[in-house]
Amino acid sequence: MGKIDDPRVSERVQAFPESVIREMTRIAALHPGTVNLAQGFPDFDPPPELIEAVKRAVHQGGSQYSITWGDPTLRAAISRKAKEFNGIESDPEKNLVVTCGATEAMMASMLSLINPGDEAIIFEPFYENYGPDARVSGARPRHVRLEWPDWRFDPETVKGAFNPKTKVLILNTPNNPTGKVFTRDELKLLADLCTDHDVVAITDEIYEHMVYDGGRHVSLATVGSMAERTVTINGLSKTYAATGWRVGWAIAPPTLAAAIRRAHDFLTVCAPTAFQLAGVVALALPPAYYDELQRTYQAKRDRLVKALQAAGIDCRPPGGTYYVMTDFSAFPFKDDWEFAMHLIDRCGIATVPGSSFYSDPRSGRRKVRFVFCKRESTLDETARRLEKLRSPAT
Ligand code: GLN
Repeated sequence: MGKIDDPRVSERVQAFPESVIREMTRIAALHPGTVNLAQGFPDFDPPPELIEAVKRAVHQGGSQYSITWGDPTLRAAISRKAKEFNGIESDPEKNLVVTCGATEAMMASMLSLINPGDEAIIFEPFYENYGPDARVSGARPRHVRLEWPDWRFDPETVKGAFNPKTKVLILNTPNNPTGKVFTRDELKLLADLCTDHDVVAITDEIYEHMVYDGGRHVSLATVGSMAERTVTINGLSKTYAATGWRVGWAIAPPTLAAAIRRAHDFLTVCAPTAFQLAGVVALALPPAYYDELQRTYQAKRDRLVKALQAAGIDCRPPGGTYYVMTDFSAFPFKDDWEFAMHLIDRCGIATVPGSSFYSDPRSGRRKVRFVFCKRESTLDETARRLEKLRSPAT
């Protein structure tokens, strides 16, 4: 996980490690039978009509490049859904860029906005990609802490983080790994700060449909005059259980969209065409699909949280996403890696060590993250396996 032992490797790449989230999936694969609650992808398929749509698309020209910034029918579908669900106005010809997942949308946005030395405000714990995104683009991260256990932030700290060097605010709501859903009041505070300091917000809203207990997702672009300074990122991966399709997008003011299109063009040319075409079918699913998604995910959340609490692992039901950040201080392990490896060896459950979500690893050394985007049977099996944590090893 340290430096790559070859002087030919660039300093840029030496400056960040492998993804711990993806590494835990590989470690899980080395332990057959392990339940992978590490990387956030479902163990079930997208709805059958979407699989059929992919098959059709492959037979209807979906094997060639699409227009760089996205197939026009997909851009129209994204624009329509963003208006209906988020209240975001967009012109598919001017405001939209379709990318290879939200991952590329974030990297392309950072490359399009950052000059070396610019600062990026990032709430922490954060989704680990934002670290390398900052490194590669040349941004200096400035972290603002979301505090365990309810993940509030101190308004004075966030105000203090804004300064003349601040170029972007990276926001992820609903938030990975905490499950926090930023409230309208919190977003209003951030919007005012971005406006006063001429800062662009890049918001990753990929978990927008996974909001529980009657909560509501609010897009920062719809707060005040933020539309003119917000890049809203989303994708098919989580909402349609299609993480391998690699279809994401950014909605941005025309000049920023033009810049992101340039970066995207030379990174990947286009997102996979057949999956873009299937995305048109996905985005046309009726409202009942999203209601059902919300209901089933809330039930999955409750199943996992109950099992974790029964096992003595401290956690609160997250307000959104499909992650649960936990604190295992009740157990006598040295750090998060030791506990995560014990969970694999003793219980056959893979998780993500909490340190990978913090700029200072010590802040996450009593934490591990679990996902619950899994079948009920997988979560029931997890609950059974967690019982072993308390029983003496045999
Ligand atoms: N967002 C997912 C997670 O946090 C992983 C996404 C990815 O691996 N590209 O687990």
